[in-house]
Amino acid sequence: MADAHGASDGTARIVVLGRQGSGKGTQADLVAGHFRVPHISSGDAFRAAVHAESSVGLEAKGYLDRGELVPDGVTIGVIRERLSALSVNAEGRPGGFILDGFPRNLHQAEALSEMLGDQGLDVAVNLDASTEEVLKRLSARRVCTQCGAVYNLVDRPPKVAGTCDACGGPVTQREDDTEAAIRRRLEIYESETAPVLNWYRGRGLLATVDAMGPPDEVAQRFVVAVESARQGKPA
Ligand code: AMP
Repeated sequence: MADAHGASDGTARIVVLGRQGSGKGTQADLVAGHFRVPHISSGDAFRAAVHAESSVGLEAKGYLDRGELVPDGVTIGVIRERLSALSVNAEGRPGGFILDGFPRNLHQAEALSEMLGDQGLDVAVNLDASTEEVLKRLSARRVCTQCGAVYNLVDRPPKVAGTCDACGGPVTQREDDTEAAIRRRLEIYESETAPVLNWYRGRGLLATVDAMGPPDEVAQRFVVAVESARQGKPA
């Protein structure tokens, strides 16, 4: 991918928003590689905690299974810990990140703003995909239970059915990709998360990217949106 503005210096600070199935995880991985920043996913953090049966995992499991939001106290604590572990560069500036799945309501957006302090955020990117499209994608989505690689049975299946191309682990449907949990997650998105878009829009931080089409093309649009937001920001 072209790096037209030389911004791949590990300092980009990005939030990615969008409906379940809009491609947040896939795009966050691609864009994290481009900008050399860590991909922090609240959903992955919770799934790892559930798998490890840690105290956070035991608390979160029922919410994940039902497709509901884990209470803010737990979620904000998990993200605060991840952000405070970010490395600081030679000039003493904290490193960048791409945050996927957080914030998911206004209280979390305010907590994030307080955590980031003066450095703030470069941009919140809204991956725009219709409900019809995400329903199609979610029913075909499969993930590797070992390394988290994401597949789609329609246009990106694993080379050997049920087996991860990357690590050979088992590729299955996510437990919360059942019809009932998908419906619940999309309802919660409309009531709790959609207002977060307006919250960022009001602060001049929202960029909307068309999430339709092949992942590489979406990623190119995503990179352009981040670079133009960073150019518009005072150094
Ligand atoms: P995701 O992989 O982002 O779809 O997240 C999977 C599940 O993890 C969600 O359905 C919630 O149960 C939980 N989760 C992830 N991020 C958050 C968040 N920011 N706030 C509350 N719950 C979350």
